[in-house]
Amino acid sequence: MIPHFPLTEPSDPPWIHPRAAYVHIPFCAHQCGYCDFAIATGKDDRIHAYLDALALEMSSWKQRPIPSPLATLFVGGGTPSHLNLGQLAILCDLLHHALPVQSGAEVSIEANPESLSAEKVKLLAEAGWSRISLGAQSFSKRTLKNLDRPHDPDAVRNAVALVKAANLDVSLDLIFGAPAQTSPDWQADLVEAIALGTDHISTYGLTYEKGTPLEKRVRLGMVRPIGEELERTMYSMAMESLGGAGYEHYEISNFAKPNKRCRHNEIYWANEAHLGFGMGAAGFVGLTRNLNTRDLERYIRQCFEGSNPAFQSETLGPRERVIETMIQNLRRAGGIESNRFFKQTGFEPNAFFKPELNPLAEQGFLAVDEQGFRLSYEGKFVADTVMKRLIRCL
Ligand code: SF4
Repeated sequence: MIPHFPLTEPSDPPWIHPRAAYVHIPFCAHQCGYCDFAIATGKDDRIHAYLDALALEMSSWKQRPIPSPLATLFVGGGTPSHLNLGQLAILCDLLHHALPVQSGAEVSIEANPESLSAEKVKLLAEAGWSRISLGAQSFSKRTLKNLDRPHDPDAVRNAVALVKAANLDVSLDLIFGAPAQTSPDWQADLVEAIALGTDHISTYGLTYEKGTPLEKRVRLGMVRPIGEELERTMYSMAMESLGGAGYEHYEISNFAKPNKRCRHNEIYWANEAHLGFGMGAAGFVGLTRNLNTRDLERYIRQCFEGSNPAFQSETLGPRERVIETMIQNLRRAGGIESNRFFKQTGFEPNAFFKPELNPLAEQGFLAVDEQGFRLSYEGKFVADTVMKRLIRCL
């Protein structure tokens, strides 16, 4: 059991001053079969109102303590590149004034291959963006079709070339475990992502989220998931191929060339404070987690009315702080570092997790030493189970 008091509170706790901000652009051309994100399709006539609402939400934040210039800014979606050139220029201008960043900050935006153009990349480069994260998912026409993606493999190749020509860092999202995908298909995806000179690669195992078009097709027997064994093989192929090509496996799903880690996501995985703006966005400041409404019209209306668009707000107590920090930290290659964990939570990790540390280490799922503990190679395949067992210690 975690005592409520006393906590040894650090003098400058990492949950007070946000160094990162996330901005959500929910608009998409259509819904991909597996998508469970906060999106809006067929609502392009609301883009301008949405950008105005974003500006209002950001200016209302400024009534509270203004954060220092940010170390990272991440615009995700949805599909931010779905905005046309004029709308993208408005967004850049808004962020420039509302969310100032430090010199050398990481400024990332997500884009879909079919909606990225040379003009948009030029605009982003001139506005100071440093990194574009492309929703590639696959280089196989069949896999893209089975995921209901709106682009073909050539669009990915063209988009990577555009980003590299502008000297911006490029990250690719790839999905494994898609319906009918085979090991050779997945190997070909990895080979091509490496060959394109990608700086950063995120690999996600497909999940069939309840209510998504793909999950409905599974329920109706129209689609058959590939099975756990093949998925496991694909994950190990990613670790071997990308590791062999010089990518550091720095987080369960993420691989980076030297000095190309996503610094924004590293702030999440360290469970440090961050701001979140836009429909469905999550923020974490002063131990309070806020989650904005996922309803487009409600988000716009509440911002225009001057009310808080958060529909959920939770302040973490000591137990939740320990659990969340453990879950986030354990995703990283460095895992739980005892000193850092103590600074973040006020607790020594061994004080709580000890009953499971040795058993998990003996089963080969955790590597434990005096610095802390982290997932082993085998542990990465069963990370959720390891986390659940550690939570049961509390
Ligand atoms: S582009 Fe991305 S956010 Fe939009 S529907 Fe497809 S998966 Fe979802």
